[in-house]
Amino acid sequence: MDVNEAKRHAVEVIDSCNDLLLEVSHSIHSHPEENYAEHHAHDVLTAALESHGLDVQRGAYGLPTAFDASAGTTGPEIAVFCEYDALPGIGHACGHNIIAAAGLGAAIGASAVADDLHGRLRVFGSPAEEGGGGKVFMLERGALDGIDAAMMVHPADADLRWMTTIAVQQLMVTWHGEAAHAAAQPWNGRNALDAAVLGYMNVAALRQHIRPQERIHGVFTNGGDKPNIVPASAAMHWFVRAADISSLEALKTRVLSALQAGGDATGCSTEFSWLEPSYAELVRNDPFEDLYASNSAAIGRIVSEPSGDLNVVGSTDMGNVSHVVPSIHPMIAVAPRGVGIHTEKFTEFAASASGDAGVLDGAKAMAMTIIDLWSSAELLRSVTSAFDARLK
Ligand SMILES: [Zn+2]
Ligand SMILES: [Zn+2]
Repeated sequence: MDVNEAKRHAVEVIDSCNDLLLEVSHSIHSHPEENYAEHHAHDVLTAALESHGLDVQRGAYGLPTAFDASAGTTGPEIAVFCEYDALPGIGHACGHNIIAAAGLGAAIGASAVADDLHGRLRVFGSPAEEGGGGKVFMLERGALDGIDAAMMVHPADADLRWMTTIAVQQLMVTWHGEAAHAAAQPWNGRNALDAAVLGYMNVAALRQHIRPQERIHGVFTNGGDKPNIVPASAAMHWFVRAADISSLEALKTRVLSALQAGGDATGCSTEFSWLEPSYAELVRNDPFEDLYASNSAAIGRIVSEPSGDLNVVGSTDMGNVSHVVPSIHPMIAVAPRGVGIHTEKFTEFAASASGDAGVLDGAKAMAMTIIDLWSSAELLRSVTSAFDARLK
């Protein structure tokens, strides 16, 4: 079977699974599950992969909602990641149902030609992308051993070669003060809410003096219980982001000093913990992106280079994957320009006709990219060399 014949066949197989893929996408969309609680998505995806002949390991790598499926027996081993976690309150506003169903479709299409082309496929179900770092735990436990390249597609408001992916770490802070009656003996109190508010203001002042790609954002998670009790405790949850893991360390120190100063000013103690894992920036791979872009163009979807407003900035645990194996994280348009991810509007588009088109086109573009890497040692070598060069 030659490469074009194989691509045609994979696309036909994906088209013939149209109903299944959209049913899976909509089913995950209507059962939004957060960080490590994605049991419905895990069950739906593993059942579909198994019914299409893949070997499926459920609850893989000690994570009950992760899975590891495989097809093919010899040749280069290419991985596709499925994400399927949702956000609190706004459901699938990041459209991970589309990532999951497109990954499933790519797996079904590519596995239909795996034996003919002598290629091996892995399909990873990676939970908790929205902060829980499922991929990081999976790779630490050996998921990527022997993998030649990895990919996924993420929905957005544009078709883009990559997401501008910056490093991130989360910080939990609690200030401890002294409770007192707020009218009778306020002088005996040490106000933890004041500490948190001053800490917040210090970070707000810091924000003018950080680099363009750096981001700091926090929410109050505890601000006291009742106005007539001086709050003995207050807490915040922060995300600190920077262009890469090394510049992130310097910014983390500055943010922490700003928050601790709020405690110092009010006589409160500041307790903090940086949540593991941190997410690394994405190591881009030009030849790998070229393959995806030309396969996407072949089905009528032109993929642009991000520039100016045509850009999505975020953080993902796929960044950590990209430091271990050659990786791509293209964005696929499922919503009109300007409808950003993490909004209620985007949740609607994730299950709309344009969301469905994203599932099918994403599946096809990825399946064809897998076929390219299976069929040509030269293409795979160019992807590997680009990876080696970037990490040097
Ligand atoms: Zn997201
Ligand atoms: Zn996402």
